[in-house]
Amino acid sequence: MRCPFCGNVDTQVKDSRPAEDHVAIRRRRFCPACGGRFTTYERVQLRDLVVIKSNGRREDFDRDKLERSIRISMQKRPVDPERIDQMISGLVRRLESMGETDIQSKMIGEIVMEALARIDTVAYVRFASVYKNFQAADDFEDFVSELRPDVKPEGG
Ligand SMILES: [Zn+2]
Repeated sequence: MRCPFCGNVDTQVKDSRPAEDHVAIRRRRFCPACGGRFTTYERVQLRDLVVIKSNGRREDFDRDKLERSIRISMQKRPVDPERIDQMISGLVRRLESMGETDIQSKMIGEIVMEALARIDTVAYVRFASVYKNFQAADDFEDFVSELRPDVKPEGG
């Protein structure tokens, strides 16, 4: 696994343990080149999902991308990180069990908002305010890049 800080590919696993009620294996990794520490998760992937964007383009579903956008919405919110992991796993499992490999990006946005609304209102408003622009924007990349930690739900 490549170090996200310096790019070194020769990183070491320091610790492996079950996470999210044994749905995932959490590995703590260490980079001897830069001293960086990071965590990876190993999970079962039930099926390969394809996201259909509103402009009709297809791209492989990227759990990490979804997770980044959710974590940005959650920044500095008093929510247990483990709970966020569980929420994301639950969302992905829902997507995987819809019976279709092709999923509209709009559908993903909606189920994320639904889940966030139950967990944290501020995170929900952050995500929803960006999602609104996203519907006009056509592209999930734009959507993610527009999500910024300093987004304030009050609009200020
Ligand atoms: Zn490194």
